[in-house]
Amino acid sequence: QTIEQDVLDRDMGITFEDIASLDEAKALLNEAVTLPLIIPEFFTGIREPWKGVLLFGPPGTGKTLLAKAVAGIGQVKFFNCSASTLMSKWRGESEKLVRVLFNMARHYAPSIVFFDEADALLSSRGSDQEHEASRRFKSELLSQMDGIPTSSGEEPGKAVMVLATSNCPWDLDEALRRRLEKRIYIPLPDASSRQDMFHIHLKSVSMSEDVDVDKLVQLTDGYSGADIKIICRDASMMPMRRLIAHKSPNEIKAMKDAGELNACLAMEDFT
Ligand code: ATP
Repeated sequence: QTIEQDVLDRDMGITFEDIASLDEAKALLNEAVTLPLIIPEFFTGIREPWKGVLLFGPPGTGKTLLAKAVAGIGQVKFFNCSASTLMSKWRGESEKLVRVLFNMARHYAPSIVFFDEADALLSSRGSDQEHEASRRFKSELLSQMDGIPTSSGEEPGKAVMVLATSNCPWDLDEALRRRLEKRIYIPLPDASSRQDMFHIHLKSVSMSEDVDVDKLVQLTDGYSGADIKIICRDASMMPMRRLIAHKSPNEIKAMKDAGELNACLAMEDFT
């Protein structure tokens, strides 16, 4: 039941347009997910759809965001799996959950089984600290991945794909990494991507005339998309901060009642 509730959450409303740049990754994800649905007859033989796709790269670069956009692609069921959903302390439970998960994915195919931050769940086997349950969990996952149908089977377009993200792909279990056949590197944003990000995050806030986005782009070399979003969020709070500086909560409430905060409150926040 947890799996049912947890995994079928595809109404997150994110599309590729909400994600700045990463054109190559978007094209590859389209090729891996959308095209096999539209032209299954092309994806046969050597061109069979990828069974596993890994998005890897530094933290905060949009890997989860890309997966959410993929979840919004019509017709595909998206099973969002977290460590807490799947790892059970009860002996045997985790393997059962993995089996149920893949049975559901096969039933609802075409579908995507998504593991965010897969290194947390699927790190290399055999380390001393490794829990027996975790080892069995991974073995079951590997055998389920080997058994998933491809659209070159009897039902074209009815494939199941595993999509995973990782900041540390080298920590992933090697056998699993091999099954994540298509690996897509998601880099830190270059200057033009950072420019797009500032525009995406600031599109619905009123900006002072003297905000120089080009300067911000120059100053944020090496920053991730997540860092840039934090800068924008923080900056969007400045007008309110200036108004209420050094005021007590009671004074702020009185200002609100007197309508003195209206100008700030009227500013749309960004989503
Ligand atoms: P982690 O590996 O730490 O989980 P991640 O690569 O999965 O990070 P996300 O969670 O997808 O990163 O991104 C974090 C936030 O950064 C997003 O919610 C989004 O607001 C912003 N962000 C990152 N990349 C982009 C982008 N290309 N376009 C727009 N926003 C972005």
